[in-house]
Amino acid sequence: MELTIDLLLSRVKDRELARIADKVVSGERIDEEEALYLYKSNQLTFLGALAEHVNRKINGNRAYFIVNRQINPTNVCVYQCDFCAFGVKKSDPRAYEMSMEEILKKVEETYSMGGREVHIVGGIPSHWGYERYLEIVRRIKESFPQMVIKAWTAIEIHHMAKISKKSYEEVISELKEAGLDAIPGGGAEIFSDRARRIISPNKANAREYLQVHRTAHRLGIPTNATMLYGHVETLEERVEHMSQLRRIQDETGGFQVFIPLAYWPEGTRLGGHRTTSVDDLKTIAVSRIFLDNFEHIKAYWITLGEKVAQVALNFGADDVDGTIEEERIVHSAGTKSAYGHSVDRLVKMIKRAGKTPVERDTFYRVVKVYS
Ligand code: SF4
Repeated sequence: MELTIDLLLSRVKDRELARIADKVVSGERIDEEEALYLYKSNQLTFLGALAEHVNRKINGNRAYFIVNRQINPTNVCVYQCDFCAFGVKKSDPRAYEMSMEEILKKVEETYSMGGREVHIVGGIPSHWGYERYLEIVRRIKESFPQMVIKAWTAIEIHHMAKISKKSYEEVISELKEAGLDAIPGGGAEIFSDRARRIISPNKANAREYLQVHRTAHRLGIPTNATMLYGHVETLEERVEHMSQLRRIQDETGGFQVFIPLAYWPEGTRLGGHRTTSVDDLKTIAVSRIFLDNFEHIKAYWITLGEKVAQVALNFGADDVDGTIEEERIVHSAGTKSAYGHSVDRLVKMIKRAGKTPVERDTFYRVVKVYS
């Protein structure tokens, strides 16, 4: 790899690109302007090789996945974000709400198949009280103490704080006591106030999202971070988004992984176009290079599709998420990916990308290496 990157460096004609790449190879942090320069560069394969060089220094040839299940308990949502095709009003014929028994049955299915994590996020119905969120966590933990519960986005936690008139600290502590182990990264969208006013003007803002994550880190709950891209945001706003995450990670070290989420427009009020695979790969590469204090970058196969996710594993990503089993949110917006994959399929997908598949738990501890 060293040889490849040296060779590539010696051949790159763009002097500014070569200067930035030199900085990256010598382990120096790049700034926002330099990240933007990389984003705007058309040297896609060079960018991929540079990001992969950074990734290999951290993760070697490993690519991670988890045996998990996504549970979206309801699609009824009071916020009605324009970019979202999942959240509907209670009166909508597509509205659904799972009972506690249904949720427990899904967890049991996953548990009996060796699943290690449930990832729970959904709509935010106005008729749900704070206790309902706590109860879901508590009942799962009581029935399946070994199952890791990664649940409720910062947006849901902000909502819980609002309806219960409690602080983020109180809400997260009570969720933790009920059995919460980790917090997913959803709801970040893009931190820019300008873009947020267009795509999701009603829900928690960027400052509130980040404050929930900071608080969770302080209370010993690790979290993930996301960025929804490809809608109305500019490249500058993407870099600023990543910059804010990098600053918090410097402060707390509590983010486990960064997950760029490609926007899917079908069925949304916002509309627009799907991202291109070039944009997807650049976003993976730039994030890997810029977020030097994040150990993991995820190529989420649900939004990228299997094929782009495989290429992304050679553009700086080291994780593809997991078996998932039943994803509903991105499928509402038109993704043609499967709803879930078997372990065999994920292992093959990773091996065929030239990487060593590693089954992990939520906290990136190794469960099994498929060498
Ligand atoms: S993005 Fe989340 S908060 Fe917004 S409408 Fe969809 S489910 Fe509701």
